[in-house]
Amino acid sequence: MRAEVSNAKILVVKVGSSLLIDGNQLNRKWLAALAADLAQARANGQQIIVVSSGAVALGCAALGLSRDTLTLEQSQAAAATGQIDLAHGWKEVLQPLGLSAAQILLTLEDTEQRRRYLNGRRTLQSLLDLGAIPIINENDTVATQELRYGDNDRLAARVAGMISADCLILFSDVDGLYTAAPGKDASAELITEIDVIDEAVMAMAGGSNSDYGSGGMITKLEAARIAMQSGCHMVLADGRMQHPLVALSQGAASTLFKAHENPRSARQNWIGGNLKPRGSLHIDAGASAALQAGKSLLPIGVTAIDGEFERGDCVAIIGPDGFDMARGLTAYASASAARIIGRQSSEIVSLLGYNGRSEMIHRDDLVMSQTTSNGK
Ligand code: GLU
Repeated sequence: MRAEVSNAKILVVKVGSSLLIDGNQLNRKWLAALAADLAQARANGQQIIVVSSGAVALGCAALGLSRDTLTLEQSQAAAATGQIDLAHGWKEVLQPLGLSAAQILLTLEDTEQRRRYLNGRRTLQSLLDLGAIPIINENDTVATQELRYGDNDRLAARVAGMISADCLILFSDVDGLYTAAPGKDASAELITEIDVIDEAVMAMAGGSNSDYGSGGMITKLEAARIAMQSGCHMVLADGRMQHPLVALSQGAASTLFKAHENPRSARQNWIGGNLKPRGSLHIDAGASAALQAGKSLLPIGVTAIDGEFERGDCVAIIGPDGFDMARGLTAYASASAARIIGRQSSEIVSLLGYNGRSEMIHRDDLVMSQTTSNGK
């Protein structure tokens, strides 16, 4: 078994329509076998997220539409219809194994906008903590042409980044990336491991200019790039056999795309390096010591606020000595934050009229500046 798969604490498994659909129907036998694999992984202590396609295909069958000539409106109607069958199918196979299926439909903005990204991540984390299996698909019904992931390979990679997953498996109808088109070129060989996606690798998938058709090899490489950058390994493997996860564990062929960094530091890079602070929080010595010790920032340790920001925005954290000591994503907009600073978290509900998060910035959303260790 690839250690990257067996050691993953959070595993995202993406399955394509071609695997799930047999003729016009859900391939229940295959789905039940995959569910058994997922239950086994859960029993081994792994947290599992599924990204499942198939809504459009199932909806087409139900509505009598041809998949080849779909207008955007028709594919939205098909998705709305088919998603019910798809979610139900997952529930039917997971429930007998004692697992709860939880449906999540995402739009592109859910991973691009920080506030929604934060909400989505927390919901996913809660579901995982409760032992449920999130079953994710794109919210095709509201996604417009310009504003959509377009394919579930890239959606799955974004989800993997969002939840800081350790490994993403794309189950497909190919067993990996070949040096040339298998079937067309007799010398084509499977590549077992890829560290960097460069022009040479893109060329193996048919060249960087080929179509970004849903499910094509280029979209898989794009997904790999997203996953690797966010610190997540990606495995591309054949999912056509029964029990594909077990097959992978028994050494079935696959291509591993190695993560660049571990998930925590990739996400922290995003917070610390890619986001412009919209404001700042000044903190006292007690809070400063707590942050140095790896704790979250609580409202009681904040002494003043600069700037106007929304919940989920990046803010700078200024220590008592005036140094910019950390960056983080704030759980409160500046107007609400101003009302709770210097106060106990237990007072939040009476101060704001709703029960907000106890932390001003949760530790997972916080990254210390490299300069703090020497105080400069
Ligand atoms: N969201 C689409 C569906 O459920 C699938 C997109 C894809 O597989 O890339 O039918």
